[in-house]
Amino acid sequence: MRSRSELVELHRRHVWPPYTSPERLESDDPLVIERAEGSWLYDVDGRAYLDGNASWWTSTLGHRHPRLVEAVVRQLGALDHVAAGGTTHPVLAELAAELVAVAPRGLERVHFSDDGSTAVEVAIKIAFQYWQQIGAAQRRRFVTLAGAYHGDTLGAVGLAGRRSDFFGVFAPLVFEALQPDDVDGLARIVDERGSEIAAIVVEPLLQGAGGMRMQPPSTLARIRELADAAGALLVADEVFTGYGRTGAMWACDLAGVSPDLVCVAKGFTAGMLPMAATLATARVYDGFRGGTGSERALMHGHSFCGHPVGAAVAREVLAIYREERIVEGVGVRAQRIAEGFERIAQLPNVRATRTLGIVGAADLGELGYHGTRGRRVYEAALRRGLYARPLGNTVYVCPSLVIPLPELDDLLGRLHDAIAETG
Ligand SMILES: *Cc1c(COP(=O)(O)O)cnc(C)c1O
Repeated sequence: MRSRSELVELHRRHVWPPYTSPERLESDDPLVIERAEGSWLYDVDGRAYLDGNASWWTSTLGHRHPRLVEAVVRQLGALDHVAAGGTTHPVLAELAAELVAVAPRGLERVHFSDDGSTAVEVAIKIAFQYWQQIGAAQRRRFVTLAGAYHGDTLGAVGLAGRRSDFFGVFAPLVFEALQPDDVDGLARIVDERGSEIAAIVVEPLLQGAGGMRMQPPSTLARIRELADAAGALLVADEVFTGYGRTGAMWACDLAGVSPDLVCVAKGFTAGMLPMAATLATARVYDGFRGGTGSERALMHGHSFCGHPVGAAVAREVLAIYREERIVEGVGVRAQRIAEGFERIAQLPNVRATRTLGIVGAADLGELGYHGTRGRRVYEAALRRGLYARPLGNTVYVCPSLVIPLPELDDLLGRLHDAIAETG
C-alpha cells in the first residue's frame, strides 16, 4: 500500500471533500483511516481514535458489528440487486413490516431510498402532492423552526431556511420555508396562514446540525397540536434522533406524538450502508389513490430503492435492537454523559452545556456553523486520540449506543482535557 503521505497527496489532488474549501484541503492534514472496530477508528500508522460522533451519527452499534457483516455476506449469497419496478424481494417485504411494527403509531407505509436528505425530499414531495390531489392545492408552504437542518439536497436546503449556513448562495434556486424563531412564532404563523401550510417539518427534541439544540417533549407535543390546528401534516425528521439516540426508539415517543410522515436514515443500517425510509400514514397514502394510470402516483424513485443488501442490514439492525435491548441500554450511558458534561460545564471557556440521551454538547461561543472555537478543541482532542468534529463553536459527543462504559468515560475525559487545554 502507498504511504500515508502519498495517500494524502492523491486525496489533495483529486478528492472534493464535503464542507471543505480548496485552501483548507491544501493546508489541513486529513486522518487516513484504514480500519475500524467497535468504538475505534485506526489510521494507516496504527494510531487509534475513539469515534466521538459515531461516524457522522450513523454507527449506532459500533463499527463492523459481526452480525451486520454477516448479514451483508449472507445477502450477497442470494440477491445483490433488483429494480424496484414491479418487483419485491423477501428481505424488503419483511423489513417494511418490521419497521412499521416499531414505528410511531399510525405509520404503516414505507418508501425506501438511500440517505437522509432523500428521505426528506420524499416527505416534501409526498406532502405537497397529497394536498394537490385531495383538493387543497393552496397548501404549498412548509414551516420549520430556526436552527433546522434536513440535509443538503435542494428541497432540504429550502427547509433549513434563509438564515441557515447551508442556504447561502443557493437562495435563488430553492423554495423557502416559513421559519419562526420559536413555537410562539409558529403559533402566530398557524393563526395567520394556517390554510396555506402543507406541512410543519421538525427535528423532534433535538436539532442536530444546527448546534445540538434541545427542546422539551412538551414543545413537540405543542407543535403536533399546532399542525392539527392548521389542518397541516406533521413531518418528523428522525434521521438523527431515531433508533434510540434520545433514549427512546423515536424522539416522538418521548412526547407521545404520532407524526403523519417520518424520515429515517443514519441508524437505519447502523451506518453500514446507505439506506433510508420515509414512512406515511394510511390517510396520506390514500391521497394517492384514484388514478387509472400513474397520474396520481408518487413520481419518485431511485436506482437503489429498497436495495437488498441495505435491507438485509436494516433487518439485522432491528433484530439486534430487539434481542439485545439496545434502546434500554442508552439510559446508563446517558447518565454518564450527563455527569461528564456537568464537569465540562465547570471549565472557564465553556458557556453552556446540554445533554439528551447519547448526545452531549458544550458551547464555547455563539451557535453557527462558521464559528472557529470548536476547531481548536477538535485538534487538541485528536492529539489525545479522540475524533470529535465540532459544529462551529459547539463541541459535542454522540458515540455509538453500545459503547462500553469504560470507553465512554475515557472519551468524556479526553474531551474534557481537550477543552481545558484550549481555555
Ligand atoms: C444528517 C441529517 C439529514 C441528512 O441525512 P444524509 O444521510 O446526510 O443525507 C437529514 N436530517 C437530519 C435531522 C439529519 O441529521
